[in-house]
Amino acid sequence: MTKKIKNNALKPVSLAKSISLAVLASLSLTSCSNMDLGLSSETTEGKKVPVASIDNTITLEQVTKDVTYLASDELKGRDNFTLGIRQASDFIAKRFNEVGLTPAKSAPNFKQYYSVQRIKPDTLTVEINGQVISQESLSMATTKTDFSWNSKTQQSTQDVNTVLIGEDDNLRKSLRALNKQGGQHLVLLHPKHEESFKRYQSYFARGLTKLVDKYATAQGGVIVMALTDISEVKTFKVKGNATVSDTTLNNVVGILPGKSKANEIVLYSAHYDHLGIKPSIDGKPQQGNQIFNGADDDASGVSAIINLANHFAKMDNNERTLMFAAFSAEEIGGFGSRHFSTHVEPSKITAMINIEMIGKPAVFGEGSVWMTGMERSNLGEQLNQTLAPQNLTVYADPYPKQNLFYRSDNATLARLGVPAHSFSSTQLDKDQHYHQVSDDINSLNLPSMLKVIKMLAIATTPLVDGSITPSRIDPNKVKRNGLIY
Ligand SMILES: [Zn+2]
Repeated sequence: MTKKIKNNALKPVSLAKSISLAVLASLSLTSCSNMDLGLSSETTEGKKVPVASIDNTITLEQVTKDVTYLASDELKGRDNFTLGIRQASDFIAKRFNEVGLTPAKSAPNFKQYYSVQRIKPDTLTVEINGQVISQESLSMATTKTDFSWNSKTQQSTQDVNTVLIGEDDNLRKSLRALNKQGGQHLVLLHPKHEESFKRYQSYFARGLTKLVDKYATAQGGVIVMALTDISEVKTFKVKGNATVSDTTLNNVVGILPGKSKANEIVLYSAHYDHLGIKPSIDGKPQQGNQIFNGADDDASGVSAIINLANHFAKMDNNERTLMFAAFSAEEIGGFGSRHFSTHVEPSKITAMINIEMIGKPAVFGEGSVWMTGMERSNLGEQLNQTLAPQNLTVYADPYPKQNLFYRSDNATLARLGVPAHSFSSTQLDKDQHYHQVSDDINSLNLPSMLKVIKMLAIATTPLVDGSITPSRIDPNKVKRNGLIY
């Protein structure tokens, strides 16, 4: 899941309502863990032929193995552009092959490659009203390699928008508007915003990544931020440059062709990249564990799609085509899913089940799961109709203020009209491990995670067998991506 750049310290979300719901509807999965999902045992000459049942297609042993490897120190936090993420990709491809998936057309050997450009800020100098702004008070997000603005030479500054963000203004909102607009902006921040500024500063210093794709439109711009008490811009001189490097990343994509509705796709997805290794502070090596293992975020989701693939492959009765996608570059802007979306016909995707952070029990209890954007399609309602006789529920996202619908790969497909939702069990408001090096295998509750995977298998079976078709998401109601960062 992608981190939201916070303006203020996180305010606790009131959960009183959700908790009472949890008490009312405690989830009992013991009864359905023995279900065999409609397949009856057949007898041949008195001998029982073993049939696939959820208890032997999704097992604690295998789920544990998969998540343990993906979250191991060996993969060094699965950072994009590193050996660790390539090892993770090899592993997922191997597992897809083992469980019986076929590589997608766009993904020979299960690997779907795409090009990205990395743009790292290099130098920046800013002078406002003749006063040089110190480096620690500067930050920039740029998709341009070179720019030079001088208010005295009219021509070059016509396109530069100067913005003052005062004491009482909402920094995040203002920046978001500029990001949406694109173009070139010189932003002066009142010193009161120092704390938020520092967060943007470290975020932007890591550089930006852009998809290089024939479908990608020319976009971009520059935002230069200066933390200063200057409140009126008379003159300015700004000069900056950035270094660009081209590189490739890959998704891992496998399919299980549908028996009778092969042109209708149910997509299961999760992201397999994470944050790598904690950077050293001031050149001093860090003490102790420095690896962001991302066991919950999102090795848990990747393990889920591998084991769901195994389940549906063994059931061997999927009327619709099932597609399983492990995306890269989720943590740095969702480029994996953006590229993926150019290789599928969105209208053919019946639903996208994106699985994010299911390694720890939700506020609704062990083994329970909730989904983002429940009100945007009737998928949740349809799933719950099927689940009702079994006393199971997919809950609505208990943290609507966190904007989680937009903080994972489902948003990309939702922008194309797909009923695309993320399914999760994280208690994001109080998860001490989120985007920390402590998000490791020991922090997971594996039995709860197993229950969630089984729950998702049961809940989505009507999608797989073609008996439900959810309504589409209205793409006009899904916010667009920013143009600069
Ligand atoms: Zn994340």
